[in-house]
Amino acid sequence: MSPQIPTVTLNNGVQMPTLGFGVYQVSDEEAERVVTDALAAGYRHIDTAAAYENEAAVGRAIAASGIARDELFITTKLWIQDAGETPAKAALQRSLDRLGLDHLDLFLIHQPFGDVYGSWRAMQQANADGLTRAIGVSNFYPDRLIDLIDHNEVTPAVNQIETHPFFQRTADHAILRERGVQHEGWGPLGQGRDDLFTNPVLIEIAAAHGKSVAQTVLRWLLQRDVVVIPKSSRPERMRENLDVFDFALTDEQMAQIATLDTGASSAFDHRDPASVAWLGTYRFDT
Ligand code: NDP
Repeated sequence: MSPQIPTVTLNNGVQMPTLGFGVYQVSDEEAERVVTDALAAGYRHIDTAAAYENEAAVGRAIAASGIARDELFITTKLWIQDAGETPAKAALQRSLDRLGLDHLDLFLIHQPFGDVYGSWRAMQQANADGLTRAIGVSNFYPDRLIDLIDHNEVTPAVNQIETHPFFQRTADHAILRERGVQHEGWGPLGQGRDDLFTNPVLIEIAAAHGKSVAQTVLRWLLQRDVVVIPKSSRPERMRENLDVFDFALTDEQMAQIATLDTGASSAFDHRDPASVAWLGTYRFDT
């Protein structure tokens, strides 16, 4: 029996499951099996991207599952090479074709680079045309996000940003809340970096609840109103990561985890010029 996953209402009224399943760094060969297992475990919200080059495999798993389309919440993302109004429109159609869907639930600008204004115009139109139920962004720092919001018609429904105990994004969170943009956290388990799973503070809190560190971290994010999309290739961990709705961290435990924030990315600095230049050159065949 699948757990009941709570939803959050986005700024356009669309309901988004607060816990989903991410497929970054899952190869096309592996993704069909992994998503099939995730759907069997009870996930209904899947987060992919054109740049992950596994949309077709995700689509095959969705089709084979037999799960009704309106029970699923499918996100994909537009890569920098397809930025701009005309390229973004074509890229969305290619993603839909690969996924075997006639609409997405959420379409995100993957990175705040290239012609994001052109992309956003295409996404606003796609949203109006019913090709996606919601549109949003990813990896936007507040300055770029506010600029986008203040000079366009549609406010992004979501900003998907790196968020975990070592990079908590509390200032970003406050601005997102103020602007009505849902905070979605990528890399919620810190991508396994920096010894997250053996952190003594997290181990102690997890033990107090008879839960794992992964479950404790996901619970902490959910209690902060952050949507989470953990990835695992292993069915037992998929189930573990879903089993986070039967306990609650105390205010004191939330405060203890707050002390772990380093204020810096463990993965990728979206404000480092060399990193921005490198990302802009990343290309894949579509
Ligand atoms: P996560 O923080 O989800 O960590 C995944 C790692 O944790 C894997 O090595 C996995 O190993 C391990 N893991 C998962 N569950 C457990 C567990 N219960 N116990 C121990 N280890 C565990 O990293 P991701 O980078 O995958 O982030 C999640 C999703 O966010 C992505 O898949 C993607 O959809 C999205 N994302 C978006 C980005 C963006 O730019 N918008 C950037 C990066 C990610 P194993 O698989 O072996 O279980």
